[in-house]
Amino acid sequence: MNQVLGELNPSPRILMGPGPSDVHPRVLRAMATPLVGHLDPEFLALMNETQALLRYVFQTQNPLTFAVSGTGSAGMETCVVNLVEPGDRMVVCVNGVFGQRMLDVAQRAGAEVTVLERPWGDIFPLDLIRETLKKVRPKVLGIVHAETSTGACQPMDGLGALCHEYDTLLLVDTVTSLGGIPVEVDHWQADAVYSGTQKCLSAPPGLAPVTFSPRAVEAIQRRKTKVQSWYLDVTMVQRYWGQERFYHHTAPITMIYALREALRLVQEEGLEQRFARHRLHHSALKAGLAALGIRYAAVEGYQLPQLNAVWIPPGADDVTTRRTLLDRFGIEIGGGLGDFKGKVWRIGLMGYSCRANNVLLFLAALEQSLILQGLKIPEGASLAAANRVYAQQVVRG
Ligand SMILES: *Cc1c(COP(=O)(O)O)cnc(C)c1O
Repeated sequence: MNQVLGELNPSPRILMGPGPSDVHPRVLRAMATPLVGHLDPEFLALMNETQALLRYVFQTQNPLTFAVSGTGSAGMETCVVNLVEPGDRMVVCVNGVFGQRMLDVAQRAGAEVTVLERPWGDIFPLDLIRETLKKVRPKVLGIVHAETSTGACQPMDGLGALCHEYDTLLLVDTVTSLGGIPVEVDHWQADAVYSGTQKCLSAPPGLAPVTFSPRAVEAIQRRKTKVQSWYLDVTMVQRYWGQERFYHHTAPITMIYALREALRLVQEEGLEQRFARHRLHHSALKAGLAALGIRYAAVEGYQLPQLNAVWIPPGADDVTTRRTLLDRFGIEIGGGLGDFKGKVWRIGLMGYSCRANNVLLFLAALEQSLILQGLKIPEGASLAAANRVYAQQVVRG
């Protein structure tokens, strides 16, 4: 290659898709901090602080809480391959793309998998799960808390206790929920929980926070076979994150800087405040979309505030609309995945992206795009509806 390439210069974007979300400027600044070694005593102190902050956002006391080097899917794989041995029974709940992914990971790990299915956009009632546990008696039940492909939020109350009645470990995907809606690991009695950094934590993709209950740790210690993955074996990784500081692999130092700063931002805002902020901007967006006749794909009452999956209105073209948003306004939203491809848009209000500026700009931009395509819409109605929600909030606040 002879040509000298130009400097990196991507266009400014407003990330309102299913992730990554906009990274907070303070996180970007933390990432420009010079490196220290991954065994430097100062870095080890930063790791301890990051673990303490992770316990805070996960709402857990679990000692085995750390960040896997890899994206959310690496967190999923870590939980699955450490809990199951070839031949172990596992139930996977599938009502969207990420349940399907967990099923694939479980099968590759050699689990004997039973699939529990629900229609996309729906959730799993406790009674249905009880029936399956009674029949299958699995070692592990895997479920997605916030299904990013459909915008559905799985209720978690009572699920851990139910699983333990049947001697089953509860494995939960909180990639899209952590930092956006309550993730209460101890209260849920969840045993293995993973997340990602690029959704509601608003750091770049690259780490997967995970936490394991003492019950899960015991199950891992009782394994008869080695964990199939060398890289993701928590018994080895733990020796680096724990007291021994035994070298396993080089920690992605810059990403730990980023995660620590992102978590500090969560702590400064406070969990309750942060959840309230996500609910507020979701309400404004939802009111705005309703004014245009746009409806949600997930069942009413179980819709995620941070991931708004909505049916594409008749007469609007999926790709044309998203292209207009991107080219004219720099706004990225997501298209549908799997069964929902070409049928839904996924509008993220995650972490730092979850702001009134973004909601109002998006609604204005969407109206323009729909008008350009010749749709008859009540012009300005979406902004008015969103502003009414904000005005009420101001009066109440
Ligand atoms: C994004 C996502 C994942 C996968 O995370 P990656 O960071 O893309 O590997 C897994 N589960 C859910 C629910 C997600 O939203």
